[in-house]
Amino acid sequence: MQKALVCGSGGFIGSHLVKKLKQQDYWVRGVDLKYTEFSDTLADDFAIGDLRNPQICRYVVDESFDEVYQLAADMGGAGFVFTGDNDADIMHNSALINLNMLEACYKRNVRKIFYSSSACIYPEYNQQDPHNPKTDENTAYPANPDSEYGWEKLFSERLYLAFHRNYGMEVRIARFHNIFGPEGSWNDGREKAPAALCRKVAEASNGGEIEIWGDGKQTRSFLYIDECLEGIKRLVESDFHHPINIGSEEMVTIDQLARIIMDIAGKRLTIKHMPGPLGVRGRNSDNKLINKMLGWSPSMSLREGLEKTYPWIEAQVKAKKIGKEKEH
Ligand code: NAD
Repeated sequence: MQKALVCGSGGFIGSHLVKKLKQQDYWVRGVDLKYTEFSDTLADDFAIGDLRNPQICRYVVDESFDEVYQLAADMGGAGFVFTGDNDADIMHNSALINLNMLEACYKRNVRKIFYSSSACIYPEYNQQDPHNPKTDENTAYPANPDSEYGWEKLFSERLYLAFHRNYGMEVRIARFHNIFGPEGSWNDGREKAPAALCRKVAEASNGGEIEIWGDGKQTRSFLYIDECLEGIKRLVESDFHHPINIGSEEMVTIDQLARIIMDIAGKRLTIKHMPGPLGVRGRNSDNKLINKMLGWSPSMSLREGLEKTYPWIEAQVKAKKIGKEKEH
């Protein structure tokens, strides 16, 4: 039986990854600061621990796991990453986690380690035209990410690559582009655009209004969680150790994203544009490399993913409302 350790297993992607690994008959240990929030974990063993502490890392990596998935990070959506208020924590906490985990994995002779990097590593200067952003993997340098979150991810990518070069560790590095789906942050200040907009639409009455940060013309692509997990699986099974994009190439403006969600909800709402933290002007995944190296790239449409996500967030909004009504 294959054994895997999932760091960040209480979070959005980590909790889904645990489910997927269990479907594949792995023995799985999860580790996180917190338990999963929206459903019980399927992990065989779940440790609550702070991976900024090297002793905790050594404690959870107590054998040579076949695969370690390092997804733990201090992160969130634009409201968390682009205000500047959390920069020190983001850099310090996530860098410590990666430094400690790599050392613990090296000492225990872990066979393979997957690292979740981000599209946020790409330079700002290539993402100013919303219709033509560049995220070819080769364009990461000269580096100029637009957030400290992106700089930490870039530093950590290099750390994993250095452990590969110097110690022969098998590393796999994915640059995720806006992953979304059910059972992720939706109202805790760390939610990203798809979840935030699903929540706003679910909360609004038909004919009402929702607020969007910026002019709504900024572009992004969004990848449904199942496609992300498929990409991780294929990457880990491959022998490709360079950073690679895992994202969708279906680029939309934020206004278009909001309109698809309104359509799914069957609501007509007015969009009010507001000043707010934004990030780069445009971003899309470039899937040439993943197609070439893995012979695969995501194909699910944005709408299909949102059709699976909206009902879950709508149910959360309703449950919260009922809870509040009972309190009064
Ligand atoms: P998430 O915030 O839901 O999950 C991260 C988990 O890490 C959380 O459960 C958190 O409690 C845990 N964690 C944080 N600090 C910790 C610590 N000191 N010790 C132990 N656990 C700790 O985020 P996610 O969306 O599931 O993202 C997973 C990974 O993928 C992250 O590394 C993130 O940077 C990366 N990523 C995600 C996206 C996305 O769109 N979701 C995009 C690019 C990259």
